[in-house]
Amino acid sequence: MNKKSIYSITYDKLVNFFKENSINEFVAKQIFDWVYKKNVRSFEEMTNISKKNIELLNNNFYFNNVKEINRQIDHEDETIKILYELEDGNKVESVIMKFNYGYSACISSQVGCNMGCKFCASGKLKKIRSLTIDEMVLQILNINKTLMEIKSKKITSFVIMGIGEPFDNFDNILDFIEIAKDRKAIEIGSRHITVSTSGIVPKIKKWADLNLQVNLAISLHAPNDEIRSSIMPINNAYPINELMDAIDYYLEKNNRRITIEYIMLDGINDSNENANELAKLLKNRLCYVNLIPFNDINNPHFSRSKNIKNFAKVLNNANITCTIRQERGKNISAACGQLRAKNI
Ligand code: SAH
Ligand code: SF4
Repeated sequence: MNKKSIYSITYDKLVNFFKENSINEFVAKQIFDWVYKKNVRSFEEMTNISKKNIELLNNNFYFNNVKEINRQIDHEDETIKILYELEDGNKVESVIMKFNYGYSACISSQVGCNMGCKFCASGKLKKIRSLTIDEMVLQILNINKTLMEIKSKKITSFVIMGIGEPFDNFDNILDFIEIAKDRKAIEIGSRHITVSTSGIVPKIKKWADLNLQVNLAISLHAPNDEIRSSIMPINNAYPINELMDAIDYYLEKNNRRITIEYIMLDGINDSNENANELAKLLKNRLCYVNLIPFNDINNPHFSRSKNIKNFAKVLNNANITCTIRQERGKNISAACGQLRAKNI
């Protein structure tokens, strides 16, 4: 029999499973309570579940975990980077960040990434595989456990911006988010969840149709095709005009402001002229720009822009709202684009 991780099943799917076995939905509620609120690690610990049902559960589901094998703390801003080993020996990194509104996590969605963005350390490790639903759920559960131990707190938001391209792992991301949002499970409000994509156009449209009320961030990083293609190979498959169409489609269906991520690379995409071009591109679209200071990845072709403030000014003058991303965890290589999960 093909057993599933208990952390991979959404509430609705568990209810269906019980229905098929002529068992009341109420049992699914009890199971979720044990798994996500009481944090038990076996069905035997579920004292209000009948022996017969425990046997049924054991025959169909199992408890697994990801294993923390390294933890680094940036004492300057209290960012924590955790290296998790998966059951097959692969490794991924997650990051916990402290903000004034609370703790947030950055979750990985794949082992490696195939998109090959030139400025990104994660992309240097070719994709080995996508993460399963349970491996993403377990990143959050373990992060919450760690935070509980050291700060008596849980995360109140998370971003899927670690290693990997989430829309290359589309179906698993959907179920993961459903479990993350579920009040009976991890209980993080959809507005406190952000998914970031490098711009896989058909998946953006599919995502738009679902109207999930989750924040969407798009890694644009350039105001024209010439620059974008030179740093992001995906632009050859989905150039900027197609990406803008997908963004418009999303906005029409969701009416939720999109975050445009723009990494500031010295001499590549950071001139005032580039800012003007970007402003033109985004004009009359419900979005705001998040300017990201480049984090070093030991590549001589890329260095940090010195023009961020001016670039922001140009955008603001053109009525494009923009913010500069707060840097986190730079002392432990836990910043955007630096996650690699190299074997240690
Ligand atoms: N694959 C997805 C999500 C993970 S990357 C995506 O690309 O959107 C998360 C963000 O970090 C992206 O905006 C990415 O472009 C950015 N990033 C990658 N490398 C970086 C670096 N060296 N410095 C700063 N940001 C980087
Ligand atoms: Fe992959 Fe995102 Fe890095 Fe590009 S920036 S290589 S899509 S993780």
